[in-house]
Amino acid sequence: MQLTVSAEEKQFREEVRTWLSENVPKDRLPPIGEEHKAFLKEWQKKQFDGGWAGIDWPREYGGRGLSIIEQIIWFEEYVRAGGPDSGCLFVGLKHGGPTLIVRASEEQKRFHLPAILKGEQIWCQGFSEPGAGSDLAGLRTRGVIDGDHIVVNGQKIWTSYAQLADYQELLIRTDPEMSKHRGLTWVIGDMSLPGITVRPIQSIDGEYHNCEVFYDNVRIRLKNVVGQVGEGWRVAMSTLSFERGTSFMHFQLELSHAIDELIRMAGERKGRDGRVLIKDDAIASRLARLRGEVAALRSMTYMAASRGSRQEMPGPEGTYLALFYGEVVQRVMAAAMDVLGPDSLMFDAHDCEAWTHRYLRTFASTIGGGTSEIRRNIVGERVLGLPRDSRA
Ligand SMILES: Cc1cc2nc3c(=O)[nH]c(=O)nc-3n(C[C@H](O)[C@H](O)[C@H](O)COP(=O)(O)OP(=O)(O)OC[C@H]3O[C@@H](n4cnc5c(N)ncnc54)[C@H](O)[C@@H]3O)c2cc1C
Repeated sequence: MQLTVSAEEKQFREEVRTWLSENVPKDRLPPIGEEHKAFLKEWQKKQFDGGWAGIDWPREYGGRGLSIIEQIIWFEEYVRAGGPDSGCLFVGLKHGGPTLIVRASEEQKRFHLPAILKGEQIWCQGFSEPGAGSDLAGLRTRGVIDGDHIVVNGQKIWTSYAQLADYQELLIRTDPEMSKHRGLTWVIGDMSLPGITVRPIQSIDGEYHNCEVFYDNVRIRLKNVVGQVGEGWRVAMSTLSFERGTSFMHFQLELSHAIDELIRMAGERKGRDGRVLIKDDAIASRLARLRGEVAALRSMTYMAASRGSRQEMPGPEGTYLALFYGEVVQRVMAAAMDVLGPDSLMFDAHDCEAWTHRYLRTFASTIGGGTSEIRRNIVGERVLGLPRDSRA
């Protein structure tokens, strides 16, 4: 593992820092809706025009063609500069685009990848269904081949940002006679096609992150299949390896910033006894432990990136980072509520970057992209080599 920083990387960090300090939007990210979408599209276009989109994406598709180490430097500086959350751009940038890079045809890559980087295409992920979340291979949304189209009928659920999306990573069953991991197909779904109905679901923080999506005889051209018909499980595993591997890297690094901010707050806010909170041993030791956990997470992120720089896709080791992150972020945000005390109840539903919002969102961090139990199974089986889960 190589963790020293080269002169070029130092220079790169300086350039990133300067550009971000001059360009990061001053306004807060609006809550999910058309304004949120317009805000992020404009910001993404600005990054693209400045040459800062897709740091580790190939140059021929609009990226910078640099390594994951430069990508991490970008994330670190982005967090430091207070850049907005990726919001509705998350799927396209963090796992939709990366899946296309490793699995799509040349025509598909040329059409979609530059448009994702320019903020012209918003993507969502249509994998989970009622009854097929952890057991993803049990999905039932049906695709029947009819000439040069696939006709799709069925339902997806928990589809983040579907109400704003232009395209979807859509996983469907094209051959019900095959065993459940076979006969699946990964297809690029155009969200504007006739027969698609999107119904947003309100989340605990009052926002509409997730949706139900219904498909009624939706005709998708066969040329939108990624890989081959029937090869969907293999393509979906690529998507999940990015989703569970590198997609949270930005959030993992952001946590270092959050814990420092929390310690600063605890040094200023007073408890009921009139002393600043950090003088309370229980609070100080809790924050110290969290800071240690966050530092460990950051080091593990670097280690994974260093290993990942030599392979096409993140390996299953990325899952222990997702597992650890999902649980640590919950502990950090719970501590934030205690430091804020009664002020945490002053909840502004429109300020989605506020601590209380972030706290409420962390309930999902041990569910979305695979629950903690599923992540433990993956770490047990594929990293530690323990016997397989007999139910899978
Ligand atoms: C904020 C958020 C965003 C999401 N966004 C998307 C999205 O954009 N697209 C998408 O397709 N999906 C999305 N999801 C869905 C997510 O992938 C599923 O919720 C997740 O995979 C769990 O599936 P489930 O909800 O059906 O729960 P279930 O699979 O029914 O699980 C219920 C419980 O049983 C446990 N369990 C199940 N199987 C096992 C096992 N084999 N061993 C041990 N325990 C087990 C689980 O850990 C869990 O505690 C999102 C979810 C959230 C919370």
